[in-house]
Amino acid sequence: MNWKNLSHPQHQDYLASRRLWYANNLKERQAYYKMWYAKNANKDSDRSRKNRPQRNARRRRFRVTNGGEQRLMDKQRYKEARNKVIQGYGSKCACCGETLWEFLTVDHVNGKPTGGHKRDYGLTLYLRLIRENFPPDCQCLCWNCNCSKGFYGECPHKRPKAN
Ligand SMILES: [Zn+2]
Ligand SMILES: [Zn+2]
Repeated sequence: MNWKNLSHPQHQDYLASRRLWYANNLKERQAYYKMWYAKNANKDSDRSRKNRPQRNARRRRFRVTNGGEQRLMDKQRYKEARNKVIQGYGSKCACCGETLWEFLTVDHVNGKPTGGHKRDYGLTLYLRLIRENFPPDCQCLCWNCNCSKGFYGECPHKRPKAN
């Protein structure tokens, strides 16, 4: 029997013979299934009920250890990538010169691209900037300058000072 080729004539013969056998023994088969089910259904659900607390604890343990560690690793990876990028762009706001890294973020100089890099933010963006060795389409800005630029088109720092 070649199981990889289910349309093989030999397999069709086999299926036909199975079908014939099922048809001829339908009553017996059904009786047997019924009996088996009556005998085992209860047993199974009893066992399943008995093991439920244990099973739930196991699942919870798995979720906590794996989920937790994975999240922690992702967070760590994100933080490292972010620091690398901010360092790559000079660890300084290109507009106002802010240097505290908590204030710093990465900015698309000409706004976010609409095509091409569809997911050009977060870890994906950071990894791209590291890979492309900090290209000039992005820069390091502080949140203030970044947000003002985003909301109002330009940072008020760029406005000529009215003395
Ligand atoms: Zn700034
Ligand atoms: Zn600014």
